[in-house]
Amino acid sequence: MDISENIKKYKDELPENVKLVAISKTKPNEDILEAYRAGQRIFGENKIQEMTDKWEALPQDIQWHMVGHVQRNKVKYMAPFVSLIHAVDSLKLLKEINKRAKQNERSINCLLQVKIAEEDSKFGISREEVAEILSSEAYANMNNVKVIGLMGMATFTDDEDQVKAEFNYLKSVFDELRDQHPELEELSMGMSGDYQLAIECGSTMVRIGSSIFGARNYN
Ligand SMILES: *Cc1c(COP(=O)(O)O)cnc(C)c1O
Repeated sequence: MDISENIKKYKDELPENVKLVAISKTKPNEDILEAYRAGQRIFGENKIQEMTDKWEALPQDIQWHMVGHVQRNKVKYMAPFVSLIHAVDSLKLLKEINKRAKQNERSINCLLQVKIAEEDSKFGISREEVAEILSSEAYANMNNVKVIGLMGMATFTDDEDQVKAEFNYLKSVFDELRDQHPELEELSMGMSGDYQLAIECGSTMVRIGSSIFGARNYN
């Protein structure tokens, strides 16, 4: 894998309004630095401990995105530095993020994860639950957390029509909520295998790992 070539390829290819989140989970710091030297500044991880170690070791102008499922008791470790949390799926979690952000005298941007896939294994909440959180008094009283958009993961399948239907559904939820909540700006959808389809369907943020850094080895 030529990481810097891959970064350049995506920078050329992606429309101007679509941000690239380079998903570096399981990859060593030297791979991240190679992408960094090619100009990449946004990196995504799915484990808080791993992200924290990388934050400590790598250049401070990297924007770290947490794209994985978040356990409430670990929010405190990333609260000093995380730039965007993609997969918030409850008011309780949002409350904890708000509390830890306040302790660090900052505000943390978040996305709410909507369940769009058929698989039970995928996390996320319904359109109704998203609407409920956004219009709740509890959320209105949180001064250190800001929901700036939605995130979704499509079913892992070769059936393009199904993936497209799921992305279109998420886009329609996004557009509908935006009428009442104009602060929703980002729609995080699309990975290595389906980012082109996601962009056609209105994605503003693609999360790409293996086609930049190569296949992951989880051993
Ligand atoms: C790992 C991961 C990605 C990247 O997947 P690739 O198929 O390697 O591009 C994107 N989003 C989330 C939430 C992930 O956990």
